[in-house]
Amino acid sequence: SAPSPQPPELQLRDIFIGVKTTQAFHGPRLGLLLDTWVSRTKDQTFIFTDRADAGLQERLGSHLVVTNCSSEHSHPALSCKMAAEFDAFLASGLQWFCHVDDDNYVNPRTLLKLLRAFPQTQDVYVGRPSLNRPIRASEPQPHNHSRTVQFWFATGGAGFCINRKLALKMVPWASGSRFVDTSALIRLPDDCTVGYIVEWKLGGRLQPCSLFHSHLETLQLLGASQLPEQVTLSYGTFEGKLNVIKLRGPFSPEEDPSRFRSLHCLLYPDTPWCPQRSPR
Ligand code: UDP
Ligand code: MN
Repeated sequence: SAPSPQPPELQLRDIFIGVKTTQAFHGPRLGLLLDTWVSRTKDQTFIFTDRADAGLQERLGSHLVVTNCSSEHSHPALSCKMAAEFDAFLASGLQWFCHVDDDNYVNPRTLLKLLRAFPQTQDVYVGRPSLNRPIRASEPQPHNHSRTVQFWFATGGAGFCINRKLALKMVPWASGSRFVDTSALIRLPDDCTVGYIVEWKLGGRLQPCSLFHSHLETLQLLGASQLPEQVTLSYGTFEGKLNVIKLRGPFSPEEDPSRFRSLHCLLYPDTPWCPQRSPR
């Protein structure tokens, strides 16, 4: 028989990127993302929020998804948005689901490079483990019993990706209202719930990847030459101090406190608002 044809190489257009946000961050966080990495991944990126916003709608069109999720910082509200991301991914028909928070920078080139390296025959859940050991959860059992279950999960705040093959197996616990139910069952946040479904329900494994970063790490520790190699980065405050990547310029910390604009100019120097190198 004829050899089976090679699947075409993965392209950026095969990846779905869901960004979780909330009304309070439309101003402070989203403009920065739209000006930087989202400008390079517009067709792939969908922003999931909890309140309509004419200004954002104008810039994003159908890529702004106004969910019916509450704007509280509660497990059900956050899981409701993750569920909306998951369902939109399933409906998109794309190959990979990647979730990020609205304080993440995504490098599309390294993301593509990472995902291309996985064989298409495998189930994949890749991200940065939140803890250095599996988390324990209490799973309710019949007759008022419960048992302790253990599993690894990827920090939502660093971003993670799941391929379609695995996502389809997650459907019984993750699609529609079932993701919120699963999260409520184990009484843990959305990112833990993803780990529970993949590892405990499906017997899958989180593939740890240190190229994903949240602001729970000391971001200063990344060297300037390492920054372009990372898949995601973040910014935030830790114990009252700004936790950001270390980059000299081109923008000052006052102009660019997150350092995302400076990083973007390093990665995409042809961006119109980046200082252009003077011709000689
Ligand atoms: N978020 C949300 N609803 C809220 C608060 C936060 O959807 O009420 C989202 C926020 O937009 C971000 C993520 O949850 O994508 C994490 O929020 P944040 O960075 O403020 O907190 P962290 O958990 O990182 O300290
Ligand atoms: Mn955060």
